[in-house]
Amino acid sequence: MAATDYIIIGSGSAGAIIARRLADSGATVTLFEAGRRDNTRLVRKPGMIGPMHSVPQLKKKIDWGHYTVEQKHALGRTIPQTHGKVVGGSSSVNGMVFVRGNRRNFDDWAAAGNTGWSYQDVLPSFKKFESFEDGASEFRGGTGPIKVIRARDLTAASESFMRALTETTDLPINPDYNGAEQEGVSILQQNNTDGLRSSTSVGYLDDRPKNLTVLANTQVLRVLVEGGRAIGVEYRTDGGAEVLHAEREIIVSAGTFGSPQLLMLSGIGPADHLRAFGIDVVADLPVGDNLHDHLFVPMTFAMPTAVRRSSPGYFARAFVRESLRNNSTWLARSVFEAVAFLRTPYATGIPDLQLHVLPWGYPGPNQDAPIRHVPDPRRSLTILVTMIYPQSRGTLRLASADPTAAPAIDPNYLAEQQDLNTLAYGMELTREVMSAKSISSAVDTEISPGPRYPDRAALAGEIPNRATTVYHPVGTCRMGIDDRAVVDPVLRVRGVENLRVADASIMPNIVGGNTNATSMMIGEHAAALILS
Ligand SMILES: Cc1cc2nc3c(=O)[nH]c(=O)nc-3n(C[C@H](O)[C@H](O)[C@H](O)COP(=O)(O)OP(=O)(O)OC[C@H]3O[C@@H](n4cnc5c(N)ncnc54)[C@H](O)[C@@H]3O)c2cc1C
Repeated sequence: MAATDYIIIGSGSAGAIIARRLADSGATVTLFEAGRRDNTRLVRKPGMIGPMHSVPQLKKKIDWGHYTVEQKHALGRTIPQTHGKVVGGSSSVNGMVFVRGNRRNFDDWAAAGNTGWSYQDVLPSFKKFESFEDGASEFRGGTGPIKVIRARDLTAASESFMRALTETTDLPINPDYNGAEQEGVSILQQNNTDGLRSSTSVGYLDDRPKNLTVLANTQVLRVLVEGGRAIGVEYRTDGGAEVLHAEREIIVSAGTFGSPQLLMLSGIGPADHLRAFGIDVVADLPVGDNLHDHLFVPMTFAMPTAVRRSSPGYFARAFVRESLRNNSTWLARSVFEAVAFLRTPYATGIPDLQLHVLPWGYPGPNQDAPIRHVPDPRRSLTILVTMIYPQSRGTLRLASADPTAAPAIDPNYLAEQQDLNTLAYGMELTREVMSAKSISSAVDTEISPGPRYPDRAALAGEIPNRATTVYHPVGTCRMGIDDRAVVDPVLRVRGVENLRVADASIMPNIVGGNTNATSMMIGEHAAALILS
């Protein structure tokens, strides 16, 4: 009988870390990953995110290719739900924007009964995985496998936006939004090592020990449960299906879409829903509920000082220069340059709006169709106006009992009016900033949404057509102590022994910022819980 101590399903932001930490304890670990290996420049060179996501032939190599179901409150759109199908998971395909969230997010998790998840509890796990360029401090880690640096050589357009924002609002310049305070406008931090993406694959798997086996291109079909205890997994091979047993535990880290889908295929989920697909019920749990996500609306302004050009020739020249000398061009860094966190009138004490500053054009009005999306060729600055505390909640359900079929993803975007109000406020504020003294003379025109939408009401009316996911889905295997929870505060699936979930899906409520750092924190925290 084939066996290993621990089985981890999914090598993403959380799973790769858990696998490595458990292997470092001396245990034998098998890490399953449905996607291919990540050792190509398409994945590892930060600036390649442009072609990676805009050229469908490239994207399908590293993405699951999922879409939402028709979104009732967004004109019936089906919106792409890109997430990594590759070693390193979404940490191998993301924008590398490094944000922990607000410290209050974790205190709120703890206040809801999740003992051990307050800010003071999770801070050591955040510090453990990072190596921040300023070195170790009360708030930051200095020796972890994930390198974090600030953006360098900002374009004049991004710098003038930062200045104009402080002029228009009372926001301070904040040297470290991952430190004592989140609020303010800041130079962007990114996970980047010597001009390469600092993914969890690079940080935790490249130099792995022999007792950690990574099975790429190998999808787990179901977790096998006998007498209420998870004993192993069935996985897909060229020749059919095989089984591997776990002597100790099985940890599902397949992400916010993959983890609930796999649990349901294994009989763990809403009983009626599972029976409708002919699946025997092992545990009746609200798996797949509580799906929520960040949305943004891009606003693009023609600005010659933004310098970058969204043309194939511009990319090709940088690619050649970067190939000749590593870490010498913009391709070596995240495409984002600055970020701001501020409070709208709907905020409850902490910033509820994030502005991502991108010195590039952006395709509009949205990127729903699976075609090559071409932005306006002018030099442009795009502000991604981002709502970070969505009120809307949706679901993930099976669309088929076939493990290779896509699940039914329904984030129920914009169901709650406050989500739309927050975005509309942010769009109007962005316009106001762009007309401030220190920047307006450098702005040629607003390319999108543009003058056809002259006021807040018109902008709000256009949001359902333009709002796009930041690819931060969370919450489908919610951690908690109540009947609606899927896992308990030590991440054990309620009612099933030997089985945990550890990834973005366990977040009870989304954090106020990009979700990769918190997913990595969950990986470190889970490993410590398992080993304790
Ligand atoms: C395009 C994009 C841009 C983003 N930009 C940013 C950003 O700039 N900053 C930021 O902080 N966050 C960003 N995010 C979000 C962030 O990357 C995710 O929140 C985070 O990576 C989630 O981690 P995870 O461990 O939950 O899942 P993932 O990292 O997605 O890992 C899940 C893994 O499980 C594998 N898997 C799934 N099912 C199975 C199965 N049955 N068998 C085997 N393997 C399976 C998947 O292939 C995948 O590798 C972005 C995400 C995307 C997609």
